[in-house]
Amino acid sequence: MSSEETIAESGEYLMNTYGRYPIALARGKGCRVWDEDGKKYLDFITGIAVNNLGHCHPNIVRAVTAQCRTLMQVSNLFHLEKQAELARLLVENSFADKVFFCNSGTEANEGAIKLARKWGGDNGGRYKIVHARDSFHGRTLGALSATNKKYQAGFKPLLPGFKSVPYGKIEPIEKALSDEKVCAVLLEPIQGENGVVIPYENYLRDVRRLTKKKKVLLMLDEIQVGMGRTGKLFAYEHYGVKPDIMTLAKALGGGIPCGAFLATNQVAKHFTPGVHGTTLGGNPIAMSAGLAVIKTIMDEGLLDRAAQSGEYFLERLAGIKEAHPGLVKDVRGKGLILGVEFKSPEIAKDVVTRAVGKGLLTILTEQRVMRLLPPLIAGKKEIDEAIDIISETLDEAGNA
Ligand SMILES: *Cc1c(COP(=O)(O)O)cnc(C)c1O
Repeated sequence: MSSEETIAESGEYLMNTYGRYPIALARGKGCRVWDEDGKKYLDFITGIAVNNLGHCHPNIVRAVTAQCRTLMQVSNLFHLEKQAELARLLVENSFADKVFFCNSGTEANEGAIKLARKWGGDNGGRYKIVHARDSFHGRTLGALSATNKKYQAGFKPLLPGFKSVPYGKIEPIEKALSDEKVCAVLLEPIQGENGVVIPYENYLRDVRRLTKKKKVLLMLDEIQVGMGRTGKLFAYEHYGVKPDIMTLAKALGGGIPCGAFLATNQVAKHFTPGVHGTTLGGNPIAMSAGLAVIKTIMDEGLLDRAAQSGEYFLERLAGIKEAHPGLVKDVRGKGLILGVEFKSPEIAKDVVTRAVGKGLLTILTEQRVMRLLPPLIAGKKEIDEAIDIISETLDEAGNA
């Protein structure tokens, strides 16, 4: 089919829940994707921070195709070598002692919320969760209850027991923790959907100090920033803190649906047989993909590469800001999650639309931020190419 035909058929048969680009993608390789009409794009969306190894990485393709020929699904009534192995690698490379696998980000947060409540119930009947006001934790009702209000409209009543505080400020958390019913604080180390919001350097350390003092859990949602995105395997490693629970998804399965929540033994021991479960979570296909992802990240030095590429990208974006002070308000990033904030939503929309037209895929976030999520394999060449396209669009926007 042509892009036009696919777009028409989508409109006819799919629920109208997404604002989509008028593009139908057909194939991808490395940092590039092609649409159904053969037009090529540099993909700095990466399936929304999923394809950290780029498209169709040979290690993932090999692992998944071999697994499909061997065993695809058996349920969690049985043990699986690859599930145990991926759990071990996640544990060996994180604060955690135990892992639970599921299928998506929102489901990881649902499970994490249940674990925190189970822990809180067993520790004095605590159940409330403090979260950041403009956060994004997912679309199912539990995770949605901890998410930005704009996503909640039309779905009330939500789950009770959630208290929102402004992100990046410590006093409101301190105040919220005076409530003896609080069992956990849930935060993104960097807010992705909210426009790549990076809190002050010691924020997580300050939160960790308070949660320790009050004996409540710290839950970090690393669904977007985990698995190497920031130049460390997990973003919390930048800040000298360890959470009690962490959620992962997106890049974890390298393009195969896969989520997980991880916890220390102290917390995980409150989950006993029968209290939580999933049919397809941790299935052999997702596990083989996840193993290929984490091994490739570690074996090929992609963390250092992402850190270096991120520094270079941010430097070049700072140059763009300097060249266009009337259009660009701020540039920021950590590793390969970066944002360019424009002075108005109109400028932002215009720049993102023009950039896509010129073959650079990026996402418009919170109306005025262009979010850039290159694969960890992107290097100077791809970054320079993106910078050239962004510069060109800004020159045009400046002259318009
Ligand atoms: C994407 C995202 C989620 C939700 O993940 P899904 O797989 O879409 O359910 C949750 N938290 C954060 C921080 C995310 O970026």
